[in-house]
Amino acid sequence: MEVTINPTVLVVNCGSSSLKFAIVDPASGEQYLTGLAEALGLPEANISWRFGDAEKQKDSLASGADHTAALTYLEEHILEGKPELMKSFIAVGHRVVSGGELFTHPTLITDEVVKGIEQCIPLAPLHNPAHLLGIAAARRLFADLPHVAIFDTAFHQTMPAKAFMYPLPNELYKDHAIRRYGAHGTSHYYVTCEAAKLLGKPLSETNIITAHLGNGGSVSAIKNGKCVDTSMGLTPLEGIVMGTRCGDIDPSIVFFLIDTLGYSVEDVRNTLNKKSGLLGLSGKTSDFRGVIEGLEQGDEQCKLAFDIYCYRLAKYIASYYVAVGKVDALIFTGGIGENSMPMRSTVLKLLEGFGFVEDEAGNAAARFGNSGLITKAGSTKSFVIPTNEELVIAQGSAEFAK
Ligand code: AMP
Repeated sequence: MEVTINPTVLVVNCGSSSLKFAIVDPASGEQYLTGLAEALGLPEANISWRFGDAEKQKDSLASGADHTAALTYLEEHILEGKPELMKSFIAVGHRVVSGGELFTHPTLITDEVVKGIEQCIPLAPLHNPAHLLGIAAARRLFADLPHVAIFDTAFHQTMPAKAFMYPLPNELYKDHAIRRYGAHGTSHYYVTCEAAKLLGKPLSETNIITAHLGNGGSVSAIKNGKCVDTSMGLTPLEGIVMGTRCGDIDPSIVFFLIDTLGYSVEDVRNTLNKKSGLLGLSGKTSDFRGVIEGLEQGDEQCKLAFDIYCYRLAKYIASYYVAVGKVDALIFTGGIGENSMPMRSTVLKLLEGFGFVEDEAGNAAARFGNSGLITKAGSTKSFVIPTNEELVIAQGSAEFAK
């Protein structure tokens, strides 16, 4: 007997050498399948996947397999013998890092839209070309389905000019679109909607600060349900301390590195993007768990990395009181935000002046995918809310289902 399942969206998130996929029910959020193809273009190309909570499976792909090969494997092998899943697709949703000023909402992909995503390549030089590979492959393989682009930058397009403009010569914005765009928009949007539910308020009256803290990280100011400021800028290098990215620094450091230390532009790019942040400060690891381990073993550099991370994060959150006004709640999400009790505890203490009082039991309980209130009664509220970017992509794409 054939099993029937609800309509689903195939969610695709391509990196230059990876392809993450999920089959998601946009109504319930249930993920029937999740998987990842890695090392694409290399001899060790491989793919792993899991149906629901079943055991993870893994296979090698042909040496040098590309994005098309990974999606073909999904269609021909992983979904083989699962006609109910194949038949359940109503759309394919593609995560796209930068839509610049061109795209402010989920967008049905046409040849014209592909050109728009190409135009935004200078704003996301590592990501957008990879997304285009995935889009081209998926449009060929799933030609009968609507393909929809969901942009990380879209949620931030409501920022006013005073938040998105840099104090640079005007023509750099007018002629070259140099401005702040932000990132992680789908995550900030998801936790904003969830926070509104937890606060019992309509989205249009929800005033919060959201901290998405993963390998990359950003903080957003949300006023009346809309983004009014965010910490990432033209690219994801601006803002808080990240795994390997420096976040905010004096731009003159770039001149110092080039003029005094003889760095090439590529050396500077590499240092600020790949060798800084937690990795640079700890001298050991870009992984927050590693920093905590080091700190617990008395490693001074890990302790300093942790302190700088929390201090700079708390300063960003404090500054967003200017953007939001009266704040209903502070939200933590992302791998670090959802799991690191010591980080949350330290940040809440630094923000004591804004009325935050940690509830230690609540903070300890909010881990491993649990959401919860982590502040005491009478305190300004702070919640942990596990993010769900796949669901936002699935829901945005389902709007275009035939
Ligand atoms: P993401 O990019 O959202 O997957 O987050 C990755 C980051 O989350 C890494 O820095 C991890 O070390 C961190 N992370 C994951 N689990 C934990 C945990 N239990 N405690 C602290 N950090 C964690």
